[in-house]
Amino acid sequence: MRHSQTMIPTLKEIPSDAEIKSHQLLLRAGYMRQIASGVYSYLPLGNKVIKKVEAIVRDEMEKAGFFEMLMPALQPSELWKDTGRWYTYGSELMRLNDRHDREFALGATHEEIITSIVRDEVKSYKKLPLNVYQIQTKFRDEKRPRFGLLRGREFIMKDAYSFHTSKESLDEVYDRVFQAYTNIFSRLGLNFRAVIADSGAMGGKDTHEFMALSDIGEDTIAYSDRSNFAANIEMAPVSVTYEKSDEEIQEREEVDTPGQKTMEEVANFLSLPIEKGIKSLLFKIDDAYVLVLCRGDHEINDIKLKNIYQASEVELATPEEAKEHLGADFGSLGPVGVENIEIIADTAVQAMVNSYCGANENDKHYINVNPDRDFKVSQYADVRFIQEGDPSPDGQGTIKFAQGIEVGHVFKLGKLYAEKLGASYLDEQGKQQTMTMGCYGIGVSRVVAAIVEQFHDDKGIQWPKSVTPFDVHLVAINPKKEDQAELAEQLYNQLSDQGYEVLYDDRTERPGVKFADSELIGLPIRITVGKRASEGIVECKLRENGEQLELNITDLTEYLE
Ligand code: ATP
Ligand code: MG
Ligand code: MG
Ligand code: MG
Repeated sequence: MRHSQTMIPTLKEIPSDAEIKSHQLLLRAGYMRQIASGVYSYLPLGNKVIKKVEAIVRDEMEKAGFFEMLMPALQPSELWKDTGRWYTYGSELMRLNDRHDREFALGATHEEIITSIVRDEVKSYKKLPLNVYQIQTKFRDEKRPRFGLLRGREFIMKDAYSFHTSKESLDEVYDRVFQAYTNIFSRLGLNFRAVIADSGAMGGKDTHEFMALSDIGEDTIAYSDRSNFAANIEMAPVSVTYEKSDEEIQEREEVDTPGQKTMEEVANFLSLPIEKGIKSLLFKIDDAYVLVLCRGDHEINDIKLKNIYQASEVELATPEEAKEHLGADFGSLGPVGVENIEIIADTAVQAMVNSYCGANENDKHYINVNPDRDFKVSQYADVRFIQEGDPSPDGQGTIKFAQGIEVGHVFKLGKLYAEKLGASYLDEQGKQQTMTMGCYGIGVSRVVAAIVEQFHDDKGIQWPKSVTPFDVHLVAINPKKEDQAELAEQLYNQLSDQGYEVLYDDRTERPGVKFADSELIGLPIRITVGKRASEGIVECKLRENGEQLELNITDLTEYLE
């Protein structure tokens, strides 16, 4: 591509509203322009990078056995009403009415659409599992669109969906996608980490996020310095259900009105300070610690106890497992594992147990209490904040915190959407069964910003080879000089024929301007044709580390390999 013929509007000044490097650099280097808050046009260079990312995503998704399709952005409200998300998704869902006053949403995600298609078209177990994906524009009316491509209101996502006859089949495909994501983010050059995540609005259970590590990331990751344990601390109030009889629950609710109690009140009750702005707590529940982590703008003070009683998914580990994980004996009940987090068990706080569970501390019943049988939650005590330096919940190493950018997210959805939309199939016995689902997203446009966050210096972007818009930046210092123009043209043709994508700066600008633009744009290799053009000598420079050398053009092919 000839610079003179394309549109690469570089800027010297840092745009005033661009706070972070990727936003500044993608604007300054002429990759994109803002059209409205959180809405961007990808200019030719930006579009090239998007396509490179998409190609890697496609390649790995196809290898994982997924088929590409394309669904509409414009979605009728009926399907969203069937799943209830028309009411629960809130103002992030962009809504509009057509000329007949029918309600629509602009797709924020596509569970409703794909599930309705599969419901109508797939009737037999023989057609399952079914794995599909698309790369498509999504709309979310984010409360705070910011940081350029990191949080847009219109953005490009790869979303994939899988449909199964069993949990085992889902597990298998989930693992395959997990591996595909690992391959994708490695190929993209990102420094990333897969973390245990919160299922949030998706309502799923098993879920991981892929986080590109970066100080400007909006998510905080708690990870072990010695093992693979890593979790997003944004997780929803993770917790446990009181599982006595309905009667007793009712009774207790009347007494304790859990729906009205905030964590602050609980903390007061325990004489523990909880400051404003605290988003995570590790607290002891009966014989277990439970990690409560707040999502989004919420903080601990907002959490109603009701949430804690309502949440369910708790699995109990055995005391042997506790010992093995934690290297210590934690009493008879062992640790509670919330999803994949093993949480430490310790001595019960009996006063709390008594006041909330109605168990008497002298009651034998209590001593032999079986949390699975008698209750799943009990009480609150020894509140303390999860901190760097804590022992990792898996017993290996120490907790460290890091910031991350969520670039991908995989969920085991289970039967939720299939049930709501009636997606069923006939099994081998001819019996009607509900499908089991998974869904898997990658923020394609967000990835571009995440890469720039990790790959830049003072002068501009430093693209990894896998996603660079062009392989080589060919710069003629003075294309008005015949020998330079001739050699540059020759190299442009030759390198293009060899399969390299070349951006040729054929402008008659000052060399300083061209070099500055070249550093800003950030292609991995610059080849400069200058004074020694007549001798067939050019200068090659690596953007990554600034290494440069003079080369005879006969050695160029070898150099580029
Ligand atoms: P976030 O927590 O950052 O709001 P999310 O959890 O709401 O993201 P998902 O519903 O999991 O997002 O969507 C899948 C992927 O789409 C995310 O992992 C992220 O990479 C990308 N994504 C989500 N929202 C945006 C956005 N506003 N702009 C750009 N990419 C986004
Ligand atoms: Mg979001
Ligand atoms: Mg998220
Ligand atoms: Mg997510």
